[in-house]
Amino acid sequence: MEDADRIKENWHSVQQQVRDAQGRFARSEPVEIVGVSKYVGPELTSLLTQAGCARLGENRPQVLWEKWDWFHSHGVDQPFWDVIGHLQRNKARRTLPMVSCLHSLDSSRLAQALQAEAKRIDRVLPVLLEVNVTQDETKTGLRPSAMRELLIELRSLDQLSPQGMMAMSTHFSGGDQARKEFEKVRLLRDELQEEFPEFDLKELSMGMSGDFVEAIAEGATIVRIGSSLWEGIERR
Ligand SMILES: *Cc1c(COP(=O)(O)O)cnc(C)c1O
Repeated sequence: MEDADRIKENWHSVQQQVRDAQGRFARSEPVEIVGVSKYVGPELTSLLTQAGCARLGENRPQVLWEKWDWFHSHGVDQPFWDVIGHLQRNKARRTLPMVSCLHSLDSSRLAQALQAEAKRIDRVLPVLLEVNVTQDETKTGLRPSAMRELLIELRSLDQLSPQGMMAMSTHFSGGDQARKEFEKVRLLRDELQEEFPEFDLKELSMGMSGDFVEAIAEGATIVRIGSSLWEGIERR
């Protein structure tokens, strides 16, 4: 099968699986799919957008820059690009104009840098706070108490618009433990929403290929799916 057909088939299958999970857990609000394109180069990435996936996630800023340039020079419409991995402050300037949502706000220093850059180009950047609700200190993301401090700080950073949280489970293949971790994220969000009524923390970006069903069961509004979209494709 041609790559384009296979990618289209994978995209439709993932959409169907997400819809099935929504139905199964009676989730009426929309669940958006961010197609994670970090595994492949710009050409295969463009096949995914042509298949209908309008929102793509990259975890490395340099790769996003390369793909952006490739799309531009090949006359391909840019999708909405989401940054889902750690962003270093010195990459904020170049990345900011390309990104529609940053899922991985993980420090006050990054927030300050983004505030300054966003002001410079006069835009407001939607951000999600990356949280670590597991006991695993090696995982990225803010501890719940640090989330609270960052939200206090965000009250005065008017170029950033906090819209919710991003989290990863330590159990990538799903199951009850994954579901418990996602539940913790939702409960923390509910708590912070009460404390910070000035923000609309509606987004929960959680769930990947192996655990998006559990994430949707616990209220994910955005799932970030990579591997399943590239099944049967020789990655290049
Ligand atoms: C790679 C990645 C994903 C996608 O994971 P898959 O298991 O390939 O679906 C999601 N979120 C983040 C932050 C990632 O780095």
